Amino acid sequence: MKARILIIEDNPENFYLMRYLLESYEYEVHGAETGLSGLEMAPRLLPDCILLDIQLPEMDGYEVARSLRANRLLDHIPIIAVTSYAMQGDKERALASGANAYIEKPINPERFVGDVEHYIGIFKEKRGTL
Ligand code: MN
Repeated sequence: MKARILIIEDNPENFYLMRYLLESYEYEVHGAETGLSGLEMAPRLLPDCILLDIQLPEMDGYEVARSLRANRLLDHIPIIAVTSYAMQGDKERALASGANAYIEKPINPERFVGDVEHYIGIFKEKRGTL
């Protein structure tokens, strides 16, 4: 089994596209539609990577990232922010909130899985395990 990935994303089309692409490469994919449900699922799943939308209802992705980083059980899990915010300041804000990397929407089906694998590979190298 390849890595287990938790996708926190409120837009069904984006979620289904990301899930479809990752499952095509045999990743184990779980989904949460809100930041709160993602934070509840994460300790049970202990995913190898979290794909985090920034524009989420109620609790936005920045807050979700900060909450993940504040939890000792979860603070090591790589977070890839996935958002349509294209401005440089928003990328920096996502990274400052605890995300390790950043993928822009709209999702490019030809690049998406390769980008995710690229970042997971970097995290593995840094940590020794994933
Ligand atoms: Mn969203």
